[in-house]
Amino acid sequence: MKRRTLLRSTSIGTIAFLLGITATKSSMSKKPEKISLSDAQWQDKLTGEQYRVLRKEGTERPFTSPLNDEKRTGIYVCAGCDLPLFNSSAKYNSGTGWPSFYQAIADSVETRTDYKLILPRTEYHCARCGGHQGHVFNDGPKPTGKRYCNNGVALKFVAEA
Ligand code: FE
Repeated sequence: MKRRTLLRSTSIGTIAFLLGITATKSSMSKKPEKISLSDAQWQDKLTGEQYRVLRKEGTERPFTSPLNDEKRTGIYVCAGCDLPLFNSSAKYNSGTGWPSFYQAIADSVETRTDYKLILPRTEYHCARCGGHQGHVFNDGPKPTGKRYCNNGVALKFVAEA
């Protein structure tokens, strides 16, 4: 009986300990470790269109991505390195012809100011491989008011199992 009580309290302790670790981890910033491939390696790994968008900051033609109509539950990952960037719950139809999200997964993207057009825009890219994803604007829906306008070819959709 004593032994049983001890075992039970041990397992409860273990569970509490594991939960504690999980809680600590998720409340901490988890910047992904950067990966760096040579230009030749990227050309090898990616399709021509993926390479043009991800590595050369190209923009796909609007209304061409099959991901515009993707409505299943799942995760959108970087087409360059598979880092999860968006949850399907943050996807919405912006009417722009590019897959759009109101929120990126924490620490998954980094931004910088892009002066390619006359008005500066905020470019964002995968925090792990640096692959260009799109631009983020302040005309998105609640709760964030952000619109992450993403090239569909720069993403891969992974449906929830
Ligand atoms: Fe990436």
